Amino acid sequence: MSLSITSKLPNIATNIFSIMSGLAMEHKAINLSQGFPDYPISDTLIALVSKAMQDGNNQYAPMIGIPALRNALVKKVEKLYKTSINPDTEITITPGGTYAIYTALTTILQPLDEVILLEPAYDSYIPNIEMNGAKAICVPLRFPTYSIDWELVQQAITSKTKAIIINTPHNPTGYVWTKSDLEQLDKLTSGTNIFIISDEVYEHITMDGLVHESVLKYPSLLARSFVIFSFGKVFHTTGWKMGYCIAPENWMAEFRKIHQFESFSCNTPMQVALAEFLQHEEEYLQLPTFFQHKRDFFLDQISALPFTILQPASGSYFQLVAYDKISDMPDKEFAIWLTKNMGVASIPVSAFHAHTKSNNLLRFCFAKKEETILQAMRNLKQLC
Ligand code: GLN
Repeated sequence: MSLSITSKLPNIATNIFSIMSGLAMEHKAINLSQGFPDYPISDTLIALVSKAMQDGNNQYAPMIGIPALRNALVKKVEKLYKTSINPDTEITITPGGTYAIYTALTTILQPLDEVILLEPAYDSYIPNIEMNGAKAICVPLRFPTYSIDWELVQQAITSKTKAIIINTPHNPTGYVWTKSDLEQLDKLTSGTNIFIISDEVYEHITMDGLVHESVLKYPSLLARSFVIFSFGKVFHTTGWKMGYCIAPENWMAEFRKIHQFESFSCNTPMQVALAEFLQHEEEYLQLPTFFQHKRDFFLDQISALPFTILQPASGSYFQLVAYDKISDMPDKEFAIWLTKNMGVASIPVSAFHAHTKSNNLLRFCFAKKEETILQAMRNLKQLC
């Protein structure tokens, strides 16, 4: 008898972030693909981690996260979103946002349930749904603004709909949900059994004076939501894989049952350091200005090249561009070609479309040092 596995994800291969970052490394290309900063993190934060380790905080943290960190987050949420969260029952520290999304989906899904998502969508959502035996129902966002067609969302709801996944500020399009979007979502879900998974990992990255509309601001939405955040995006520490999830007490109790048998807890010294570092609120309050500057610099530079900016990103640290003046290759092929031949890696937006039409676009990450962006532009000048 030969040994074999029935794949849980028969249609999924290595994800696009691994492929493009791998290619960038192999071809020594400037990596504007996977979303991560290339500038240093705060020295204060590094010193706090080091101190936490020296002080002996090196063993398992409590399963739900250390009290000081949960308390600091509750204070932050209260100040920003005027919502009171119970630190003991409604928040859990997780090894990253992607993990929290998977855990929330695993908490609520039963085989054959349906989950609505809006495409383009972050690439982990569909595999996470399918690993639970459930089905993803994909609704396209309106091209090219990527606003939400609420008629289409309404039409996608059936008696099997268990959840809707939302993401604002949005990866990869940079769309930031408006108050009216949240109100529409509330209207659509109130009186139903539909849960909301709200991926808000880019909460502090909004530009042009836009304000992040968190589900946490809307009590009736929060009552049916798992809301997911990431320290990686806020403190430029994606490699730490630290995030958290907020949900009402009864949903969170079920979430924790799963979490305790996945990773059990997250690394302790980082939690101790983050609890202290969260007292420096200017660190996250200055992020809109910080990223506005980065986005504007990127746009200013790329405008000299034959790419077309659909519209400036309003949130997240990604900018979408069309390249129809350069090539008619499909976007994945073009992204690979650009990496190998021009020395700049990006993400083809088709990777975020499993079931809906994509439009030959590239996503560039602008969370980079100015010198990195300048070098990328020098490489791309060969296209002119
Ligand atoms: N969230 C990041 C992005 O969209 C990457 C996450 C990952 O590599 N899985 O680029």
